[in-house]
Amino acid sequence: MSKPAIRNIVIVGGGTAGWMSAACLAHVLHGLDYRITLVESADIPTIGVGEATIPPIVDFIRFLGINEQEFVRATNATFKLGIQFEGWKTTDSRYFHQFGALGCAIDGLPFYQFWLRAKQQGDQTVLSQFSPAARMAAQNKFVPASFGTKESLLAGSSHAWHFDASLVAQYFSDFAQQKGVMRVEANVLDTTLGDDGDIATLTVDGASGVATLQGDLFIDCTGFQGLLIEQALGAGYEDWTDYLPCDRAVAVQSESTGEISPYTRAIAEPAGWRWRIPLQSRVGNGYVYCSQYLDQDDAQAHLLSQIDGKSVTEPKHLRFVTGHRREMWRRNCVAIGLSAGFLEPLESTGIHLIMRGVRRLIELLPATRDCLCQAREYNQSLIAEYTSIRDFLVLHYATTQRDDTSFWRHCGEISIPDSLAHKLELFKASGYLKPDSHDLFEYNNWLAVLEGMGVRAQNTSPRINSVAPEEVAKILQQLDAALGKMTDAAPTHEAFIQRYVIDNKIEKQKAG
Ligand SMILES: Cc1cc2nc3c(=O)[nH]c(=O)nc-3n(C[C@H](O)[C@H](O)[C@H](O)COP(=O)(O)OP(=O)(O)OC[C@H]3O[C@@H](n4cnc5c(N)ncnc54)[C@H](O)[C@@H]3O)c2cc1C
Repeated sequence: MSKPAIRNIVIVGGGTAGWMSAACLAHVLHGLDYRITLVESADIPTIGVGEATIPPIVDFIRFLGINEQEFVRATNATFKLGIQFEGWKTTDSRYFHQFGALGCAIDGLPFYQFWLRAKQQGDQTVLSQFSPAARMAAQNKFVPASFGTKESLLAGSSHAWHFDASLVAQYFSDFAQQKGVMRVEANVLDTTLGDDGDIATLTVDGASGVATLQGDLFIDCTGFQGLLIEQALGAGYEDWTDYLPCDRAVAVQSESTGEISPYTRAIAEPAGWRWRIPLQSRVGNGYVYCSQYLDQDDAQAHLLSQIDGKSVTEPKHLRFVTGHRREMWRRNCVAIGLSAGFLEPLESTGIHLIMRGVRRLIELLPATRDCLCQAREYNQSLIAEYTSIRDFLVLHYATTQRDDTSFWRHCGEISIPDSLAHKLELFKASGYLKPDSHDLFEYNNWLAVLEGMGVRAQNTSPRINSVAPEEVAKILQQLDAALGKMTDAAPTHEAFIQRYVIDNKIEKQKAG
């Protein structure tokens, strides 16, 4: 017997994952014969972190037809050009992982090859000097790529945002409800499976008492616990703690101090690392650490001793297991957000994975509950994305030269996944980085972290020998000077926020 058509979609959870999924589904399915309901609990809090993003979020907002300026205003957002890593290679080292370009390809040869060649001739530049985003970040300046011409160096930069997680959930909640999503405030008490093993109903306890909620397709956005995908359907969990040993975090918000930087800071600490995320009116701070080497009280004391402004919230302690559900889509249930898996926020990928999940679901949206094949495809592709991000994160730890604490010695001994080991070996031998279709992070992202961690290709491509040394030096000089000019012309990050977000002036200026 064929399974029933999917008409009734039920999302459980009103955090970032729940409301972003609701907003996206409602946008795409608007006017079609679907009913979308979101159940959120007033008693169970959202995780309340997740405030740094990466550039694909900007496309997501545009895809939903949302005005960027309005979104930035509503969510207390600032602009982000990348992440400054401090103390990762050695205690006093620092590097910038930029969004967007790092030099530019010349005659089909990667810029990195030119730079390597120049280094062999005694060049003193640093690689990040050739990134428009890194240059602006270094001077606390910001202007978006869209303000330059297509040919300008500025066009190579890219941005994302730091925003207030609760305001973001509220924004998407309003957006989704305007598009017809029905909000039910209730606690889900129980899940009933049908004879076929699919989820049939939820028992919910809300304002009008205990009731039954039916659905055809369920989206589990209940956070780490995975109320439907794990507790009801037993999807199983792949644990990646051996690769990424941090398993706790403590987070606190503080008052703003000093200039608002257009980047996240990721500062290596004795048993993990600390984030600093500047919003317009406050700062988000957190210490991600490994409980094998640090206890909760010491982590909190350390975090509070390191933040620069007065704290304005009580410290919040979080526990996690790095990894993912073995099946993120099982039967008629798809897990999105923390219920699907967790990778530490070192490269701000959590919200991105929510967007990937919901957009992949929309691509594969089945007509009926007969959806084994779509589920298989979904699981394969999402797990491949998680895996490639995992490898990129492991790179940050496994290449450290630090051995000053037990935690960092542990990181130096991490067994690298085969996929990463091959990539590293090939890069060291040739400067070539094997592209992977599931790789969120591209050539320039890998290069920034590799160079920042002191991993440099040992050989240049023989093709670069056709370019005379003087020509290589001239190219680098010209690019450096042009980027300097571009940065000098850009407004400060704060001036840009004031003009673009607060004063609401959108006139474009050519800045590159
Ligand atoms: C320490 C840390 C730092 C992070 N930093 C970043 C970052 O900088 N950038 C980034 O992109 N991501 C980050 N993330 C990830 C990001 O926070 C999450 O991806 C995002 O917040 C989505 O969370 P969620 O909606 O899946 O879960 P939650 O926010 O936990 O929401 C779960 C929802 O389910 C509801 N719920 C649970 N049980 C029930 C029930 N029985 N009945 C009804 N409702 C129920 C709750 O009320 C809540 O609304 C971070 C995560 C952690 C742990």
